[in-house]
Amino acid sequence: MENKSRRKFIQNSLTAAAAITIGAPLLKSQSLFASENMADGFQFTQVKLPYSYAALEPSIDSLTMEIHYSKHHTAYIKSVNDTIVAEKISFNNEKDFFANVSKLSAKARNNGGGAYNHNFFWESMAPGVNKAPKGKLNRSIEASFGSLDKFKEAFTSAATTRFGSGWAWLIAVDGKLKITSTPNQDNPLMDDVADKGTPLLALDVWEHAYYLKYQNKRGDYITNFWNVVNWNKVAERFSK
Ligand code: MN
Repeated sequence: MENKSRRKFIQNSLTAAAAITIGAPLLKSQSLFASENMADGFQFTQVKLPYSYAALEPSIDSLTMEIHYSKHHTAYIKSVNDTIVAEKISFNNEKDFFANVSKLSAKARNNGGGAYNHNFFWESMAPGVNKAPKGKLNRSIEASFGSLDKFKEAFTSAATTRFGSGWAWLIAVDGKLKITSTPNQDNPLMDDVADKGTPLLALDVWEHAYYLKYQNKRGDYITNFWNVVNWNKVAERFSK
């Protein structure tokens, strides 16, 4: 090889090597972007807790609230969002996600339910400022269940008899109130649950929701839940 063509060859080789070196990190960062940071549709977000960890004491103790919100709930949010990316799940919103949940993996279903249900649960409670439902909600509760006390009895029964882990719900179906319960992290927005409807009030009856304070006494936890129900929020959901 003449000196001139050798120089040319080296120059070409260097250019090619540089292109590969530049190309490699680009491809790597593109694939990282696609696999770790990007989803076509919506992702779940964790609501800001609308009160302090200690705000619902003594009905719900501060340590339970902190672990429940910052560990359990945060893990559901992260897992469902990782799953949305890994399984290329693309929906516009939570409602569509749950309306198609029977087509999704168990991982997407369980963590999606956990993400949504806890957001809903935190906002179902508030430090004891509104102890009873008013207006249209109160009239509907009386019409459907006889009285507020009878409603509480029926809801408590649903929450107490839910075997293992799950949730008790008050839902609206075609404007009518109904009490139901779901296993695991299922919820009434899911397309394949027995009782579908618009969630109005939820109670988490997983042991992690009460065991530190109440141990095996789920009944006492449910009794004290009534002290912190945010009836204004329930009424707002019912009015939509
Ligand atoms: Mn929980």
